[in-house]
Amino acid sequence: MPAPLVVQKFGGSSLADADRIRRVARRIARERATGSDLVVVVSAMGDTTDELLALAAGITDEPDSRELDVLLATGEHQSATLLSMALHALGLPAISLSGPQAGITTDGRYGRARIADIEPRRMRAELEQGKIVIVAGFQGMSEASAADAEITTLGRGGSDTTAVALAARLGADRCQIFTDVRGIFTADPRIVTDARQLPVIGYEEMLELAGQGAQVMQTRAVELGWVNGVVIEVLSSFEDAPGTLIEEDPFVEQRNKVRGLAHDRNVAKVTLVEVPDRPGVAHAVFAPLAEAGINVDMIVQNVGHRGATDLSFTIPEVELARAKRILDRVVRELGFREMTTDSSVAKVSIVGAGVQNAPGYAARMFGALATAKVNIEMITTSEIRITCMIAEDDLETAVRALHEAFELEKPDELTVGASADGPNAGAVAS
Ligand code: ASP
Ligand code: MG
Repeated sequence: MPAPLVVQKFGGSSLADADRIRRVARRIARERATGSDLVVVVSAMGDTTDELLALAAGITDEPDSRELDVLLATGEHQSATLLSMALHALGLPAISLSGPQAGITTDGRYGRARIADIEPRRMRAELEQGKIVIVAGFQGMSEASAADAEITTLGRGGSDTTAVALAARLGADRCQIFTDVRGIFTADPRIVTDARQLPVIGYEEMLELAGQGAQVMQTRAVELGWVNGVVIEVLSSFEDAPGTLIEEDPFVEQRNKVRGLAHDRNVAKVTLVEVPDRPGVAHAVFAPLAEAGINVDMIVQNVGHRGATDLSFTIPEVELARAKRILDRVVRELGFREMTTDSSVAKVSIVGAGVQNAPGYAARMFGALATAKVNIEMITTSEIRITCMIAEDDLETAVRALHEAFELEKPDELTVGASADGPNAGAVAS
């Protein structure tokens, strides 16, 4: 029987200094001792990527995107080589490979490349020689073996994507994402003391949580896992404790409840006051933002009033300055009265497959916020999520109130109908 193949990914905080790198090496050695073949994907050490970005910003406001990607890729080269040396020091055979050496090719877009293909020959050859293969995450080359191939990076948090893509391509038996938290929780345990770790969560629920601010894993990596059926295990690199499995959840219907809450402080609200109410205006506002890669989330347009209307929407707070610059031009062209912005807002979301087709959840959410005296400024929904925009100052109150209202501290009930009187079962469609 061939040895099981395990892909492990270690994030920046797990590799922040020499001690931690040695600790990660010991963890890998333990897995190795059970007889597994190992491919290990690494992020850059600690805040290295931010530091490299700051270095570039010290030189110029607009660094060339090609040069920037080569610079950023060095962060993962550092951690990969150092981890390989740490394994050698334990007497284990290991080799570090850059993304290109690992055979990862991309669509060539600097700073936000997508993985196009993985040619696993080199990795397989090294594994066959008994080596632990360390792969620098977050990068690939723009074309397979062409002389003009360029190093491209996959976007922030991209080593999660590297890990899941390698697990899919290599047909790994397990894909483990080691991080600085123990797994996925019903809410941020720093805010809710009795937040509960979930043993398992469905891909779709995880995507919604990640998209709404739960920062455990990169959204794209979860998507990739879903499409390829890779079961992803999120677990702590600092303690030996069971993590959370992200997988197709067979009990999703039976759980039939809110699985978790996500919140996001990194939100800013933009309001365009008295925009002309005629065709093409929304396009004129949102097309240039989309072109600049700025994600617009909640959009509310009021009913028109004497040929004008107010248009509000949210964007990531970190994009506010850029969005303002872009919209200033649009203001002049369209001639609306003014643009106001507010970055003291936040979003809170309830997520769960059970939310689907169950109006009771929205009512209970709004009721809990009302009781907690939290004002709702905007609302959006997806099939399995309801999100409210509120004042940032109210955020912790809101998260605690919702956690309590949906009884998220209670473990899952897997028997259909058994808990038909709990608040979480109340909204079951009958
Ligand atoms: N080092 C990169 C970042 O900080 C990629 C990663 O950590 O996944 O975004
Ligand atoms: Mg990360």
